[in-house]
Amino acid sequence: MIEVAMTRTAADDLPDPYRLRLPGPTAVPERVRAAMARPVLNHRGPEFRGQLATAERLLQPILGTENSVLLFGCSGTGMMEAALLNLLAPGERLLCIVHGQFGERFAAIGEALGAVVDRVEMEWGQGVDISAVAARLEAAHYRAITVIHNESSTGAVADLAALGTLLRDRPEILVVDSVSGLGAVPMRQDEWGVDVVVSASQKALMCPPGLGLVSLGAKARAVVARHTAMPRFYFDFRRALESASKAETPFTPPTAHVAALVEALEMIHAEGMEAALTRHQALSTALRAGGAAIGLPDFTRAPLRSSSVVVLSVPPGLLGGAIVRTMRERYGSVIAGARNRLADRVIRIGTMGFLAPGDILTDLQQLEEVLAGLGHPVEVGAGVAAAARSLHASAREAGKTVVRAAS
Ligand SMILES: *Cc1c(COP(=O)(O)O)cnc(C)c1O
Repeated sequence: MIEVAMTRTAADDLPDPYRLRLPGPTAVPERVRAAMARPVLNHRGPEFRGQLATAERLLQPILGTENSVLLFGCSGTGMMEAALLNLLAPGERLLCIVHGQFGERFAAIGEALGAVVDRVEMEWGQGVDISAVAARLEAAHYRAITVIHNESSTGAVADLAALGTLLRDRPEILVVDSVSGLGAVPMRQDEWGVDVVVSASQKALMCPPGLGLVSLGAKARAVVARHTAMPRFYFDFRRALESASKAETPFTPPTAHVAALVEALEMIHAEGMEAALTRHQALSTALRAGGAAIGLPDFTRAPLRSSSVVVLSVPPGLLGGAIVRTMRERYGSVIAGARNRLADRVIRIGTMGFLAPGDILTDLQQLEEVLAGLGHPVEVGAGVAAAARSLHASAREAGKTVVRAAS
């Protein structure tokens, strides 16, 4: 028998406060956590059908689509894999736009599934070079093209409107990972001609990890309906689409996560979708301004910069890992470094979900102390002041103060 007293883990002794400031998973509001604690519903009963239908109705405007939205129990990577499984037949060609770590992941998934994968690579931190993509489309025939909407490793946002225009009258399927974008960065799936959007619960949608979602346009649905495809069962979109038409899922869905999602989506709509996007923009801009003022300039070079993750360059002589570690040890503030070619050269902080100006000012006040403690010359207060000025300017532009998400 295992003694219960011995089952305590580090998770039982969290620092207080524990500030989850990652680019995902993100802090989950109390209201959303409480929704998960409600009684488990019959997944084929009327109450749960109602919840599924509500989740879809509230997600559609955030996606900018009229497509049905399929939900699966999996992380974002699961949805990326599922999308490729359903679109590609063995040996078909896939073009992956790679301008960061998650673009590389999409290519790795394609290879693991046995597709013929070509990469069109761009410098990390830059946006997507549309002419380079166009040139590749002339050189070979591809079934699908993958792109990361919001590259969480670099802070670059892809110009999906331009990609959609390029592909509108072509046969290739445009598959977009908006795991860290949806809810924080504008998405207009139908207007832009995006065939597939995959996303997940644990980023700007303010839920715990565990729920993936996908929205398929008509062009993608026609490809999914083919008989030649990769072997698939749980992730068979044909089955899921048929169930969705009856407000059901083919198998038992993570019902508590769906309850959480509905609660979080209600919060987003109570704030107003546009207001939420404006808030994300203002908070990320303020953090960039504050970072620049204390010697941590923006790493991102793309014309469109993320409002959900801020990637700051670490000056020579300092290590990103040391900043991340000290933030956690001193303040219980959990930010991210990089686990790729940018390791120790950048730090990454989430600016998505349930956040207010005070969170950003706290980040900067703590960063100032940490940098000073690591021997980096920093004018204490400069980052906080720059962020406060930036917030003030954003508020004037928006015509109202930036506040927290509806709670
Ligand atoms: C977080 C994230 C994912 C998904 O990662 P999982 O750990 O599988 O949920 C995928 N793409 C991007 C751009 C992300 O930020």
